[in-house]
Amino acid sequence: MSSTPRLFVTEDIFEGKTIALDEGQSNYLLRVLRLGAGAPVRVFNGRHGEWDCEIGPVQGKRASLEPVKQMRAQPELPASAPILLFAPVKKAETDFIVEKATELGAARICPILTEWTQTRTVRLDRFNKIVLEASEQTERLDLPQVEDLQPLATALEALPGGTVVIYCDEAGDDMDAPWGGDTGRAGPIADVLATLGDVPVAILIGPEGGFTPDERACLRGRDDTRPVSLGPRILRAETAAVAALSVWQALKGDWR
Ligand code: SAH
Repeated sequence: MSSTPRLFVTEDIFEGKTIALDEGQSNYLLRVLRLGAGAPVRVFNGRHGEWDCEIGPVQGKRASLEPVKQMRAQPELPASAPILLFAPVKKAETDFIVEKATELGAARICPILTEWTQTRTVRLDRFNKIVLEASEQTERLDLPQVEDLQPLATALEALPGGTVVIYCDEAGDDMDAPWGGDTGRAGPIADVLATLGDVPVAILIGPEGGFTPDERACLRGRDDTRPVSLGPRILRAETAAVAALSVWQALKGDWR
C-alpha cells in the first residue's frame, strides 16, 4: 500500500490545472503530515481517474496541488457494482455497514425503512464523510452514491431497470420446508447467484428484527427478487451486509 497520501477532490484534474484544496485538506497535508511544496499527493475525483500531483507553493495555511501524471484511467463503473439496500441499525453498526460497503465496492448505499426498523433517522452528512474517507483509504476511483433514508417500497421502485434484488432472507415461512420455492427457505446464495447472468443487483439486508411476514410475502412475490440464505446461522445485519457483498464480489463481481 503506497504511503503517498490520497485525497478526493471535486475539481477537474488535468495537467496544468492548479487544484485548490480546502482548509481541512490543507491542514491534513501541511500540519498533520507535515508535507511541503513539491511533496507527492495522489488525487481522484470520480471522473478523471487517479493522478500523481505535487504540492504547489504554500501560501499561509492553504495548499494547492499541481497534477503531474495520470496513474489510473477512470473505469466505467462495472454493471456488477452492487447497490446495497439496508435497514439502519445502531449507530456504530450502521457506520460500519456504510464503511464496509464502500470498501466492498458498492455503487450505491441506500438506507431503507422497513416495519421493524428501529432506527428511523440517519445522518447523511455523516455517511458522506465515512464514504469519502473509506474511498480514499481503499483506493477506489469513485465514491459510492449515498441515498437518503426511504421506505423499502420507494427504494425498490427507484432501482434501475433490470436490477435483480438479492433478498437476504434469514428464514423462510416454514423453517422445515426444503430450500427454495415460493414459501420455503431461501436457496443458498451461491446457488442463486449461479443462476444469474451478468445483471445489476441490489443486495437487501433487513433490520435486527428481520422482515415481517407481510414484507417477506411481498418481496417473494416480486419477479425481480431472489430470496437467498446466508447459511444456517442468524447473522447480525452488519455481518450479513459484509458477507453478502463479499460473496457477490467473489462470484460475480470485481474480485474475479
Ligand atoms: N429477526 C431475525 C434476525 C435478523 S438479522 C432473527 O432474529 O431471526 C438482520 C438481517 O440480516 C436479516 O433481515 C437478513 O436480511 C440478514 N440475515 C441474517 N442472517 C441471515 C441468514 N442466515 N440468511 C439470510 N439473511 C440473513
